[in-house]
Amino acid sequence: MNIIFIAPPAAGKGTQSIKIKNNYNLEHISTGDLLRIAAEDNTPLGKKIKSMMEKGVLVNDEIIIELLEKKLSSESNYQGFILDGYPRNIKQADYLEALLNKLNKKINYVFYLNADYETLKQRIVGRVVCPACGATYNLLVKEYNPIKEDVCDKCHHSLIKRSDDNENTFKNRYDSYLTNSLPLIEYYKNKNILYEIKGNNANEVYERITNIIDN
Ligand code: AMP
Repeated sequence: MNIIFIAPPAAGKGTQSIKIKNNYNLEHISTGDLLRIAAEDNTPLGKKIKSMMEKGVLVNDEIIIELLEKKLSSESNYQGFILDGYPRNIKQADYLEALLNKLNKKINYVFYLNADYETLKQRIVGRVVCPACGATYNLLVKEYNPIKEDVCDKCHHSLIKRSDDNENTFKNRYDSYLTNSLPLIEYYKNKNILYEIKGNNANEVYERITNIIDN
């Protein structure tokens, strides 16, 4: 079973990916995480990736496609994969389809998550994340505060603030989503694999997703 998420920044694709991967034994492939690792390299390529991410614009298709091909072509003991953050535009979707055809695989579900602009902005501005287990918290929303400031409740690793989680970069990331990624909704609707999941509460959203998969 292979899954894709289409969602604006902070709509919950990372959170849902973690819940789903554990339940269905799927590999969680976050292109944002792959790029954050690549951006740590002190090379011209690493610096270029870092600067694009900090601006909130999409990293070149060629770079991301190479990272993805490596990941999807390698041996895996999982029951499938979740792509969190890919595709971000139609070109990437076409490329994915060609690659999966070659590998004799297909996408079963595309989950479309959404939330209004102000909610997303508040989630981004207050968000801190655990780089070890991927858990996310929000310092501006009491319900989502970590128990101990700066420490992950789940694995006790130190929490970090992503350098692109600020108001200015959020606006660019959201605009990029509207321009580049929204056309993917029609694209996957036409293939009859798109499921729109409504709701702001992570547990409710998760329940709706598992209902679709299990039925
Ligand atoms: P994310 O962790 O999914 O919010 O992604 C963070 C940033 O990584 C984005 O704002 C982009 O700059 C870059 N990025 C992630 N996935 C992709 C992709 N599929 N194509 C191009 N850039 C990407």
